[in-house]
Amino acid sequence: MIGEELAALGLLVAGDVSPYERDESGYGTYPPQAAVLARDASEVQKVLRFAREKRIPVVPRGAGSGKSGGALAERGGIVLSLEKMNRILEVSRADMVAVVEPGVILEKLQQAVEAEGLFYPPDPNSQAMCAIGGNLAHNAGGPRALKYGVTRDYVLGVHAVLPTGELIKCGHRSWKGVAGYDLTQLLVGSEGTLAVIVQATLKLIPLPRSVATLLAFFPDEDAAALAVQKIFAAGLLPRACELLDGPTMRALAGRAPFQFPEGIGGALIVEHDGHGDSVFEELAKSGEMCTEAGAREVVAAQDEAQRRKIWETRRSISIALTAIRPHKISEDVAVPRGQLVEMIRRVRAIGERYRLPTACYGHAGDGNLHVNLLFTSAEEREKSHAAVAEVLQAAIDLGGTITGEHGIGLAKRAFLAREQSRELIELQRRVKKAFDPDDLLNPGKILPPAP
Ligand SMILES: Cc1cc2nc3c(=O)[nH]c(=O)nc-3n(C[C@H](O)[C@H](O)[C@H](O)COP(=O)(O)OP(=O)(O)OC[C@H]3O[C@@H](n4cnc5c(N)ncnc54)[C@H](O)[C@@H]3O)c2cc1C
Repeated sequence: MIGEELAALGLLVAGDVSPYERDESGYGTYPPQAAVLARDASEVQKVLRFAREKRIPVVPRGAGSGKSGGALAERGGIVLSLEKMNRILEVSRADMVAVVEPGVILEKLQQAVEAEGLFYPPDPNSQAMCAIGGNLAHNAGGPRALKYGVTRDYVLGVHAVLPTGELIKCGHRSWKGVAGYDLTQLLVGSEGTLAVIVQATLKLIPLPRSVATLLAFFPDEDAAALAVQKIFAAGLLPRACELLDGPTMRALAGRAPFQFPEGIGGALIVEHDGHGDSVFEELAKSGEMCTEAGAREVVAAQDEAQRRKIWETRRSISIALTAIRPHKISEDVAVPRGQLVEMIRRVRAIGERYRLPTACYGHAGDGNLHVNLLFTSAEEREKSHAAVAEVLQAAIDLGGTITGEHGIGLAKRAFLAREQSRELIELQRRVKKAFDPDDLLNPGKILPPAP
């Protein structure tokens, strides 16, 4: 019915809503009443005006790779997909910016700018599937965030449609600019709850000429975490420093395109980049630090194909873990780097207490760990949820956060009040109301229900 009304407005309405009823969070299936595939900003405006008139929720959607349920139509309504708005409008070498529509797949943008000798560093591991709009809405990170920062650091300006239907243009094309409140940065990370991003101007930097990668094998994850400390203590700043714990290594062993040494209980992937030979010196120094921390073997990739294999192995972890248990709850806490060893220790203790296998891996260099609780039965699922609450609390207790990069969505809204004060949450409710007075844009996400 709603679909027919939207089609009558000249909008492209999906014949089948099933591709739009779930995302990569595993937080359930929520069929919307209709899914609209917007082709330009004016169609986004049309959808939001229609929804306001009818008092129907609208959920913006990029590629649906989100891990916190942000793109789920929990309260029904319209899913507004930006997948058709997928043009790279400009890559300017003179200004070192790219102007893109929100549906551009990240990997396509990376390839386009690298062909011009330029670099867009944000690199969530979902880069082959996720879209720029979703990256901005989640302020996505990734392995290279360690050296280069997250998506936010590369967003100069956006065009966005407010829930009330107005198109706003905020930010600038210049690399600098401080006029007015920084609403661009407020929209980045707002998880589709304040406005729908319909265009973005992104900052580009020169493409590093050299990249060097190593894989170090450790007897256990504590030694790997110690190596992380040693690398930074030596004054090095790799562009990526990814830790894989014992269970992760055991799950990967049969799948990786190379043989792991015997009795391995942890690993680090360390990558340096830059513009000269110093890159290889830095890699060698990181390798020494790994050896000092107890690495049994340190292997440096000899060519691009070997580098790619190391990263393919890293990207296959999620699937490999299903060999231990078919299901998992995957968290992405972040702690100050100095608390990494303690965080891993606490996760292990929580897993033992609940008798659930755990696996930790992730962007250890910036303290961002993906903590996985693995389970089979419905009863174990219940236990996993209880264990997750303890993992999140442990991260907060160690001075960290309940989400390093995946966002709150619906998955963690019940935990936000553990990390943030009542006053801060209340202020965010007022911001939400200023943008979305009728609470129709992605309602119920991020903020817990008002008391
Ligand atoms: C295998 C795998 C690996 C991953 N690795 C990483 C990683 O390393 N780092 C990381 O940060 N994330 C990672 N993710 C999570 C995910 O890919 C990112 O959060 C990504 O940014 C989501 O983009 P998307 O286009 O799929 O967004 P979606 O899932 O479609 O949406 C995510 C949120 O953004 C909102 N949204 C989407 N488009 C717009 C728009 N145009 N305007 C306003 N709001 C919008 C939605 O409403 C929703 O709240 C990974 C996911 C997978 C499956």
